[in-house]
Amino acid sequence: MSKPRIYLSPPHMSGGELPLVQEAFASNWIAPLGPQVDAFEQEFAAHVGSKHAAALSSGTAALHLALRWLKLQPGDEVICSTLTFSASVNPVIYEGATPVFVDSERASWNMDPALLAEAVADRLKRGRKPRAVMLVHLYGQSADIDPVAALCARHDIPLIEDAAEALGATYKGRAPGSFGLAGIHSFNGNKIITTSGGGMLVSNDAALIEKARFWSTQARDAAPHYQHSEIGFNYRMSNVLAAIGRGQLRVLDQRVEARRRNFDVYRRALGDLPGVAFMPEAAYGRGTRWLTCLTVDPAVAGTDREKIRLALTDENIEARPLWKPMHLQPVFQSHPVYGGKVAEELFTRGLCLPSGSSLVPADLDRVIDVVRRCFARTRA
Ligand SMILES: *Cc1c(COP(=O)(O)O)cnc(C)c1O
Repeated sequence: MSKPRIYLSPPHMSGGELPLVQEAFASNWIAPLGPQVDAFEQEFAAHVGSKHAAALSSGTAALHLALRWLKLQPGDEVICSTLTFSASVNPVIYEGATPVFVDSERASWNMDPALLAEAVADRLKRGRKPRAVMLVHLYGQSADIDPVAALCARHDIPLIEDAAEALGATYKGRAPGSFGLAGIHSFNGNKIITTSGGGMLVSNDAALIEKARFWSTQARDAAPHYQHSEIGFNYRMSNVLAAIGRGQLRVLDQRVEARRRNFDVYRRALGDLPGVAFMPEAAYGRGTRWLTCLTVDPAVAGTDREKIRLALTDENIEARPLWKPMHLQPVFQSHPVYGGKVAEELFTRGLCLPSGSSLVPADLDRVIDVVRRCFARTRA
């Protein structure tokens, strides 16, 4: 009989969600929109320190509407982190624009601000002023926002932040996602809190959020009949899911602590292994350790990321390589990239370990055991 599966990052309900879901049922607001959505937006905006928020069907939808606000034209360029999930970049294509990729820095694994400055200078020299910078905050850690925001301000380039993986993190005491023109969060099932599926668009610009709400509800003009002067989308969050989100938001701090604890346990148990390095935590903020990520240098370790991942799979444990950089993706291969070697190395060497906030010590022991065995084998 196989051992029970250990997932990478499964949902973790607190129990506090149910009374809120029951409220939604009792009021028969089983619809997109409703009082739970309004309350979730207000509570979320207050939590991250943004003035306004729109609850949507996904983080991807939030990114799409943030980019739509910029009225991109075919051929317009948007500078994006290359080390990320494709959902950060796909909405650039939805809006008919072209992504240009920038590599990561080693200190945070997020976009390298110095390389971004080079990329912007080079695009300007070519007469192609970037229409936006899409800055991603990966694996629960903020990118180095200040130099990026300063560069964007200097050149009057809108900054959009993809904080889908960084809810609960801080940058100089504030929430990543609340610095740029707009930020997005995700409540997908694998994120630090979840509504089973959903997202949030945040901004200090009331008009941007109002327009996003309009687009997300099919762009219906103010008329008694159905009238449309613009193309709309069906992107609103359901009132039932917002109830789950409100319950989850109340335990966010506990979820962060649990994930940081997982990381500490892994680091103590595996940090001495040859060639193993954990994702660094940049000094400017506090990460959530949404996923515990490490790299394995095969020249020193005598084993490699893939052998370890397969050994974990054999034991019914889910582990994943780090994101495959966008500039290596078949679908984006033709787009320009600045640098790329850091993200490539992280992809070849990097592994995400099971990191759920509901993991118990016995689960962590099982993972640790398998990883350590991979090293023992090669030394024997
Ligand atoms: C999860 C994720 C998204 C997309 O969020 P969804 O809610 O799944 O659409 C976008 N960017 C990053 C970096 C993510 O990890």
